[in-house]
Parts: sequence; C-alpha cells; structure tokens
Amino acid sequence: MSLIDLSGVGESRLALLNKLNIYSIGDLLSHFPKKYEDRQRCRPLKDLLGDSDEQYPVEVKVLGYDYFYANKKKVLKVVVTDGFLRANLICFNRDFMKNVLEEGKEYIVFGDFQYRYGEVQATRFDFVPKGSAGESLNFMRIVPIYPLTEGITQNFMRQIIFEALTSTRFGESLPESIIKKRQLMSKRESFREIHFPKDHKTLEKAIYRLKYYELFELECNVALKKHYFTHHKERKYKDNPAGLVSQLIQSLPFKLTSGQKDALREIKEDLLSQNTMYRMIQGDVGCGKTVVAILAMLTVIESGYQTALMVPTEVLAKQHYQTLSGWLNPLSIRVELLTGGVKTSKRKEILETIKDGSAQIIVGTHALFSEDVKYHELGLIVIDEQHKFGVQERIQLIEKGEALDILVMTATPIPRSLSLTVYGDLELTVIREKPRRSIEIYSHIVSSDEKRKAMYQFMDKEIDKGRQGFVVCPLIEESEKIDLNSTMSVFEAIKSQLPNRNTALLHGRHSPQEKEDIMAAYLNGEYDILISTTVIEVGVDISNASFMVVENADRFGLSQLHQLRGRIGRGNYHSHCFFCIDHNLSEDGKSRLKALMSHNDGFALAEEDLKIRGPGEFLGNRQSGLDSLKLANLITDEPILLKAKEDAFQILRVDPKFELPENQMLAKTIYKRFEDEYRLYLTS
Ligand code: ADP
Ligand code: MG
Repeated sequence: MSLIDLSGVGESRLALLNKLNIYSIGDLLSHFPKKYEDRQRCRPLKDLLGDSDEQYPVEVKVLGYDYFYANKKKVLKVVVTDGFLRANLICFNRDFMKNVLEEGKEYIVFGDFQYRYGEVQATRFDFVPKGSAGESLNFMRIVPIYPLTEGITQNFMRQIIFEALTSTRFGESLPESIIKKRQLMSKRESFREIHFPKDHKTLEKAIYRLKYYELFELECNVALKKHYFTHHKERKYKDNPAGLVSQLIQSLPFKLTSGQKDALREIKEDLLSQNTMYRMIQGDVGCGKTVVAILAMLTVIESGYQTALMVPTEVLAKQHYQTLSGWLNPLSIRVELLTGGVKTSKRKEILETIKDGSAQIIVGTHALFSEDVKYHELGLIVIDEQHKFGVQERIQLIEKGEALDILVMTATPIPRSLSLTVYGDLELTVIREKPRRSIEIYSHIVSSDEKRKAMYQFMDKEIDKGRQGFVVCPLIEESEKIDLNSTMSVFEAIKSQLPNRNTALLHGRHSPQEKEDIMAAYLNGEYDILISTTVIEVGVDISNASFMVVENADRFGLSQLHQLRGRIGRGNYHSHCFFCIDHNLSEDGKSRLKALMSHNDGFALAEEDLKIRGPGEFLGNRQSGLDSLKLANLITDEPILLKAKEDAFQILRVDPKFELPENQMLAKTIYKRFEDEYRLYLTS
C-alpha cells in the first residue's frame, strides 16, 4: 500500500505530504502528534470561562442565527446554549454554516470559548452532530494534534493516519524476550495508541515503547560496531614491574595524579588482554594526558612493538616530539617525527627506521598513515585531540597492522548521553582531576568601551613583562569574505591600540602550511599577539601566553570557549581571559557566558552546552544517527537509554550475527537502517 491509495490523497495532497517529509505509509505512521487535546468528556460552558487554559468539548443546541457587521461585512453568529448559558459561534466568511448547524439540533463543540464583547463566543471551533460523536476521530477521545502544512487539516491528517493504521500489518521488530522483560507494548498497539490513545496511561506506555525502540536500534548499532572492531590479537605484551614504565615514572619531576594512575591501570588491563583495545581518555585541558599516553606506549615498546602518536597539526606534532624526546631519550628510546612538512631525503631516512623497527615511537600527523609508510611491527596507535575521529579513519589505521590497539585522547568532554550512543563502542576513561598548579586563570567579561580600553592597557603591560597573547575571532562559515573582513578589522583595531607590538594575523585563507609557519613563529616568540579564528583550539602548549581576548564571545559554543580558555595558563604565569560581547546579547548567549564564568569544569560545561544546543549541533555532524530520534531525548530519557543499551549488548553477546530466529526481524531493520556503515565494516 502507498500513500496514493489512501482515500482523499491525490497528486496535490501527496505533494503536501511530501512537504512534511512523508513519502510512505511508514513515514505517515511515524508522523507523531506534537500534542493532544483531551476531548473525552463534555463540560458545561461556564467551566471554560475562568482563567484556566484547559479546553473541553461542550454539548449545545442551536437556538437560531444572528448577524453583526465587521469591516462593513455581514458576519454570521450561530446562537447556541448548553442549557444554562448562551454562546455565539462566530462564522467569519462562512455564511453557509447556517445550513450546516441546523436550528433545534444538538452538537458537540470544541472551541475557543471566551467572554468577549459582552457575550460568550468562539471564533475557532470544531463540531460534530451529537448522535455521531462516538464514531468521530475528533471527539469524545484524546485527540491527536499533528504538525501540519497549509492545505492539510487536522481532520484530514487524522483520517488518513487512521486509515493507514487499520490497513497496515505490523510485524513485531523486537524479540519476544525483550518485550517480556521490559513489559513493553507491542509495536502494533503502540502505533495505534500514540495516534489514537484509549487513555493517558496507555498513551504513556505507547510512547515509552516507541522511545525504547528508537534507542534500542541506536544501541544495536553501537554494539555491532563494537563487535566488528574488537579483534583477537596474537601479540602478547610483557608486564614488567621494574621496566621502562616505572623507570619513567621515577624520573618524572612530579607525582602522577590518582586519575592518571587509574587511567594507566585500565589501559594496562586492556593491553594485556587478548582483545584489541579501543579506549578513549577524556580529560580536561591540562589534566596531563600526554604522560599517560607515553606510559601506555612504553608498555608496548618494552615488548618489542612500535607505537605511533597521531595529532591533528604539525605544530602539535613537533611539540609532542620534543616532549617525548626529552623524556625518553634518557631511556634510550628512539622517537621519530613524521609530518607532511618533512623533506624528501629526510623522509626516506625516517621511513627506513620505521620499516626496520629501529624507530620505536613515531609522532606525526595523518602522514603517519600514508601509503608508503611501512611499519615493522606496530602495536599501539595513540590519537591525540581528535574527538571527531570517524569510522573511515579508523579503518585506514587498522590496516597498518595486525589487530592494533587504539588509544584516543580528547579534551573535549563528551557528555554521558553521547558516550553511551555515538561513542558507545569506545571504552571510556575519564580523568577528573588536574594536577595542582600554583597559577590561576581569571575570566573577565568585556561589555563596554571603558572595559575594552582597560583590556588593551593590560595587554600592553603583559607584553612589557615579556608575555604573549591571543586574540580569537569567531569563524563565520557562510562567508569567507565576511570572516576575513571581521578578522581584518580586529587586526586594525589592535594595530592602532598597540602600535609598537608585533602582531600576526592568521585567517581562513592561509594554506595549512602558512598556518603552521605562523604558529611556529609565534611559538618562537616572534610575535606578541596572534590574531586568529579558532585554529588554536587544538592542543598546542604556548607556555609563555598569559592572555586571551575572545571577540564576539557569544558566537562560540560553550565547550569551545572553555577549550580556548584552556590554551592559556599553561606556563608559570597567572593568566587572563577576556570575553568580549555586544551590548545586546541574546538570551542564549547570556546563559552560555554565565555558565562559563561560574564553572571551570569542562564536563559541567559540556552538559550545559548539550542542553543549550542539542546533540546534532554539538557533534557538528548529522551522520551520528541521532537525528533519527523522533521521540526519545538523550538527556531526559537516559533511564530508557541505559536499558536499551543493556539489552542490545546482551543480544549481541549471545547472537553476534543476528542468526537466531527470534532476531531475524531485528537483523533486517538494523542492517537496513545502518546499511552504509555496515558495508564499511564488512569490507574492512
Ligand atoms: P593535556 O591533558 O591537556 O594534554 P598535558 O599532558 O599537556 O595536558 O599536561 C599539561 C602539563 O601538566 C604538562 O606540562 C605536564 O608535564 C604537566 N603534568 C602532567 N601530569 C602532571 C602531574 N601529575 N603533576 C604535575 N604536572 C603534571
Ligand atoms: Mg594534550
């Protein structure tokens, strides 16, 4: 059956349905009500006239007709009574209602009754002859109110959905065992009930079942992904208590925090197990993830395998290379740097050391996984600051070795709801504490010209002391030109306010190489101030930077602002972050900045951010599968999510390929829904 077979649906209505994203009967059935009106019981007119917004149907009898003039036009009033009060039904441009609502007959009316112009009246109303109210889809029941488009009425939508419901055969897609265990409503009943509920309780059960299913599908995908990416590994790592790991720990100028120790313990367990590791360390900027990664790498190196550390930019690669070399050369470990910027002859040399295994740690950008890079025996890959790391990249990496162990590190806190879904196939280690530091980062809001002036003076003084700083402008994606203009004008402003300072400008039109060069020069102290769009967000340590100015701070996401702020205060200097805002800030902008001033905890901020922006935008992509959620809300429905997750993983544990008879229906729907992704897995 297709839409066109429904009564009343022809070409023109079909086009209107398409406008509502309804292309099939299935889409129609999933066009859920946005709300309901309880029209189960009639009440007297007087109950409708108070302050309450509640609406009820009323039973009335038509007494006669009357007219009044509005804008020189004659308007019909149908005079009715419920036996106690009189009311008028106002029929603008609907003179024909005189023939529809017949004198002396009884009707059930649902309308916007109010006391106006010295009478009780309704201007918008639905009605049905009293005798046929029982069969109506619009009366004597809880009535669905649908999202509509012009040309489609509620009444019509109700009719076609009702018809579709009665003529559809619903095959149950959930295994019987789950329905029993969670006491879920059947698929068939839940679809019926969500559109035409018997009562409030069954409606609730229907919504629960449908939400559960949405989340269950999502979690099946997560469980499958996890299954495909977990491999048995032949490699065995040694557990050597007196080895490199403890040697490095002893040589460190600080003690590991307990969060770092916990992370290390979990990583070690993964590494020593017979399955490949796929773990993410999530920890706010400055919590000390690098040293954890290094210690993980040492475990692997000690057993004779290579490790690679991949980062998103060349500058960051160089920085990590220096840190690692400084710590590991004393332990006679060979670290190499491989980026796109390495010259051909040098590159050849490095490739040779990677191939013969003498390079033990290779630090680099994506270049680490170019075609011509051959590893001797790669065991572990660490990926830093890459939380938007996709399936495609993962497959590329995995091809560089046998059943590789993967460790991902990110400072972008992933809210719990997303770690359960989009990132649900990762094991997660969260480092909550930061090493105690003696320096502070102060946040300021700059909202007036005087404050701005004071800010420039402050910057000048800091530069006098030998410090550096950043000025960050929002990236305006729609227009590179506006982007350039706005950064240029900020540049001009700084030039005129601080004429004797060396200022560099970094914008979207610079090539990646130019960006790297400017960053490197800045790192080298050649500039006092670096003005840029958000490219500095990612991981680079500039320990000499003590101030940051964020222009149009309200244009940034909350997590992003926090990340930016984390770029300063990395050295031994107290640091200051200035958030510049317009005088007339939006409500959203206000609540973001308020959160920012009151929390310095990236996790709390990420949760706030998710609430303000919603998961789609938070992730910055649409392919997360989350946009398929029509009813379920990841934050408020977390209890359902947890159950769905438990069930999905349990099924996959028992039946990883959906081969049992009771999982057949599931196999069909899940594979179909995530077809593209599975093609990737299955060919990998
Ligand atoms: P992030 O987690 O942001 O990548 P880093 O690994 O760059 O943080 O660490 C930030 C700074 O803190 C580095 O200078 C590092 O040497 C230092 N550090 C790491 N762990 C500790 C610790 N346990 N105590 C003191 N300082 C530490
Ligand atoms: Mg880092």
